[in-house]
Amino acid sequence: MAKRDYYEVLGLSKGASKDEIKKAYRKLSKKYHPDINKEEGADEKFKELSEAYEVLSDDQKKAQYDQFGHAGMGQGAGFGGADFGGGFGGFEDIFSSFFGGGARRDPNAPRKGNDLQYQMDIDFKEAVFGANKEIKVRKEVVCDTCDGSGAKPGTEVKRCSTCHGRGQVGVEQETPFGRIRTERPCPDCQGTGKEYEERCTDCRGTGVKVKDVTIDVTIPAGVDNGQQVRVAGQGEPGINGGPAGDLYVVFRVAEHPDFDRDGDDIFYNLKLSFAQAALGDEIEVPTLDSRVKLTIPAGTQTGKRFRLKDKGVQNVHGYGKGDLYVTVTVVTPTKMTDHQIELLREFAEIDGEELNEQNDNFFEKTRRFFRGE
Ligand SMILES: [Zn+2]
Ligand SMILES: [Zn+2]
Repeated sequence: MAKRDYYEVLGLSKGASKDEIKKAYRKLSKKYHPDINKEEGADEKFKELSEAYEVLSDDQKKAQYDQFGHAGMGQGAGFGGADFGGGFGGFEDIFSSFFGGGARRDPNAPRKGNDLQYQMDIDFKEAVFGANKEIKVRKEVVCDTCDGSGAKPGTEVKRCSTCHGRGQVGVEQETPFGRIRTERPCPDCQGTGKEYEERCTDCRGTGVKVKDVTIDVTIPAGVDNGQQVRVAGQGEPGINGGPAGDLYVVFRVAEHPDFDRDGDDIFYNLKLSFAQAALGDEIEVPTLDSRVKLTIPAGTQTGKRFRLKDKGVQNVHGYGKGDLYVTVTVVTPTKMTDHQIELLREFAEIDGEELNEQNDNFFEKTRRFFRGE
């Protein structure tokens, strides 16, 4: 399949500004994020998107792409790609793994940087409605003094003369099988294959620095506890020009004082007085973003559940909304006046109830208290 134009992938036309590119990427990556969008093909779309953004958000790569298109993005662009490891053939492979070496990879080959994980605390409503937030992450970044080369600006990086850039040196050993040649990391370049005229003083030749970096995170509406989003390219820097790793932001959602959540459904406990429950009422109950009228029919019992359709959480994958369930608890009165007590006794009498009242414990004490006795 031919690659789509990177601007087209982002829904932009050629010459779009950095800001437009960033905005388009944010919007689309939210839509197609594999942790959020489980539709078929979303994963592919997201990959395509990440790739387009990786190029267009990088001034140097963008310039190259603008000039040469996808041809300018070919494998190995920007580095030699020569295979310094050749010459010994399969024989060495067998024995380097036999001796636990196994590290005969080209030290100059580009490798993806490590992924990072960050736990982000968000409040209940941020999870429900989504938000944009900044986080500060302490991580390795490319040294801006030497652009990651590790060399002091203006000085040269050469292939290590001991290992000729291979990062490994051959060592001959006598073994019961005879004389065997094995590979060891080069002692002069510590396996990097590089020799510096002068190292960058800022990063001591490592090409990376540790820095506090501010990163914009889009919290998708409807996200739940433990779910994560991937922020592409915000992991650790790539090695030898490889792509940066990704940052995974895992959400930890705070509880709400009034609402419980289960998936996209929200639960609310409504307290009703004895009279409200017995006689019925029309009251307002809170929803996630406002209040709605709720009709309480006469004779409502504790445990009765009302369903308010679509008043729950917007599904994070975009599949509709959950519901709000309002569950009733009828509250028994604990503070009554003499008059109210009389009326309740009358009420019970009419029902033919004979009560062995225990009110001398609680109500009497309460009454005495309010009378100041
Ligand atoms: Zn440096
Ligand atoms: Zn070396």
